[in-house]
Amino acid sequence: MLRGAFLPTEKLELDQNVLLVDNGKQLIMFDTGSGINAEYGPMEFGPKPGKLYENLRIAGFDPSDIDLIVLTHAHPDHCWGLVDDAQNRLYPNAQVAVSMVDYSYWTDLSRVPNIQGTLQRKAVLGTHFNLIPYADRLVPVVGDKEVVPGIAAIATPGHTPGHSAYIISSAGESLVVLGDLSHHQVLLLQRPTMEFLFDTDPAAAVRSRVKMLDMLATDRLEALAFHFPFPGRGHVLKQASGYSYLPTPIPLQ
Ligand SMILES: [Zn+2]
Repeated sequence: MLRGAFLPTEKLELDQNVLLVDNGKQLIMFDTGSGINAEYGPMEFGPKPGKLYENLRIAGFDPSDIDLIVLTHAHPDHCWGLVDDAQNRLYPNAQVAVSMVDYSYWTDLSRVPNIQGTLQRKAVLGTHFNLIPYADRLVPVVGDKEVVPGIAAIATPGHTPGHSAYIISSAGESLVVLGDLSHHQVLLLQRPTMEFLFDTDPAAAVRSRVKMLDMLATDRLEALAFHFPFPGRGHVLKQASGYSYLPTPIPLQ
């Protein structure tokens, strides 16, 4: 499949696309990337991540301007950018919208001794480290709930127990924030029933992926996928078998 898509076959490279939405009342960021923390930070993810905080400033935004951070799920590459080394909030004025199912699951230290694998244990410890400083600033996401006007969650469990996609609607247009319903624009679209190594419940993840891809293709909705090539926006087309991805062209500045 990779060769057919003119991609390298020896390794996969996944981007981390963070979306910032200004709805006129609030500055809203979707996920945080893997962060800058020395202990729970980007080192697991290669040399490229960990730049969001400085890039926000370069783009003209102060981290203290962020009013709301909406998490698709509580995996390291999506929420480990919430705090610094001393566990101070990097976004001091932000509330955090997160599935309560994911929040409970990924901050539950009592299950750490029973978790097999160093990486898997670290996932809970690091997520606890990042989320707890926002414990009194949570916006609970439960099921298909509207988070703020114009942004509604779509419960898509499987990759994590509380994984949530979001649909952003404005002036007759919409964008679906896909999170990790599909990690790769070729592999998991051409063969959406393939399971992914880090799915908590792979069978449920497949059901959520297939349902969402069908909705995107049928309703002709644009999506933003966290791990697709930057900026991760595009449409999904139904094929005889599986789906294909059509990136949205980036206008020249
Ligand atoms: Zn991810």
